[in-house]
Amino acid sequence: MSPDFSKGLVPAVVQNADTGKVLMLGYLDEESWTRTRETGRAWFHSRERGLWEKGATSGNTMEVVELRLDCDLDAVLMRVRPAGPACHTGAESCFFNRPG
Ligand SMILES: [Zn+2]
Repeated sequence: MSPDFSKGLVPAVVQNADTGKVLMLGYLDEESWTRTRETGRAWFHSRERGLWEKGATSGNTMEVVELRLDCDLDAVLMRVRPAGPACHTGAESCFFNRPG
């Protein structure tokens, strides 16, 4: 089974496989999905950068432990073991801002 890329990019929720913590959100196209499957590491597609591997510059790559597709195949859950912080700020998770 593969994500449905017919409507464009597919969001991928990235979760720490050991702790359950939600780390970041990325977007996939067919190429980054295939690369993730082939390498066992997290790749994404960015409108600005195109194909990119998480951690390629920071060293904080993510080993993919498990991939899941949602019910209608338009979202992906990536369960990973991160080599370091998920966020470019150095935070473990990108989701540290509180509203208001
Ligand atoms: Zn971040």
